[in-house]
Amino acid sequence: MQRRLLLPILLIGPAGFTAPAAAQGSLNLYCSVQNEWCQAVATNFQRDTGIRVSMTQRGSGETLAAIRAESQNPRGDVWFGGTGDPHLAAGEENLTQAYESANNGGLHPWALTQWRQSERRAIGVYAGAVGFGINTELLARKNIAPPACWADLLDARFRGEIQIANPNSSGTAYVVIATLVQLMGEEPAFTYLRGLHPNVNSYTRSGTAPIKAVARGETGVSISFVHDAVTEANAGFPVTYATPCEGTGYEIGSMSIIRGARNLTQARRFYDWALTEPAQRLGFEAGGQLQQPSNTAAPLPPNAPDLSRIRLIEYDFAKYGRAAERRRLIQRWDREVGSAP
Ligand code: PLP
Repeated sequence: MQRRLLLPILLIGPAGFTAPAAAQGSLNLYCSVQNEWCQAVATNFQRDTGIRVSMTQRGSGETLAAIRAESQNPRGDVWFGGTGDPHLAAGEENLTQAYESANNGGLHPWALTQWRQSERRAIGVYAGAVGFGINTELLARKNIAPPACWADLLDARFRGEIQIANPNSSGTAYVVIATLVQLMGEEPAFTYLRGLHPNVNSYTRSGTAPIKAVARGETGVSISFVHDAVTEANAGFPVTYATPCEGTGYEIGSMSIIRGARNLTQARRFYDWALTEPAQRLGFEAGGQLQQPSNTAAPLPPNAPDLSRIRLIEYDFAKYGRAAERRRLIQRWDREVGSAP
């Protein structure tokens, strides 16, 4: 699903006078985090700079597909958020351009590793781990013991009880597949995914839809980012999360400037701004999101999953962010899992 937001053109300047935003130019922002956060980023950047923002929100895989389709006539200027692998694939396909921000010095090492690995085309803006979202009331009512390990999800007690996204549109689902391949090896991972299939009631378009379905009590378990489970618990839903006992993967949510951006000055200004501490606080303060921010001065939000306490694999971003590898694994998933009855 694509959402567009065009913000009003008139802004109240710091001195209280009304200034035409057009004087500062405009920015076409492609955004792959949750809509509330995307809107907050667009509104605050426009307020801080006077640059008029037109924002389009889509999943990570969908945004990569759009940028690819528009490559001869780019419409977007900057791509904010979404899982790191499609940002790396975009860089490799020369769909994005290198940039070095003066604000790089304030970032965690993992954000800069992403930047170096992408030959300065993608930079980390947040990180988060994959795990299980769990509706505690629903599982208790059905007398189902919650999952603690990947292996548990294959159990017949979860028949029709699990939701995960479709990796064609969702970066989250691709991180899950790449995680399983790295944990188990490719053949066992696809055997696992085929075994999981009868327990999955829906492969959703968006990576965050499954945890929202858990919160609403439509499904007992999601395979999703664990920070999103805390967002739902904070909103009052009977949701908790578990990180798989065998270990799990994680994302480096990223940002890239699109090659051929028509508003390059504004895109760079946005990029610099998005790496600052006040901009990174917006994820939690305006969007209720609990990822680990990449700016070292931006605090880990209260109750946010602490990545240093989660058993994380050494996710090979270079390999699984490669365009051909990503395409191959998603096509294999389509053939063996997504198209299965
Ligand atoms: N929303 C949030 C809060 C995320 O952390 C992420 C991952 O980067 C996404 C959305 C990406 O969603 P999708 O899996 O639909 O690409």
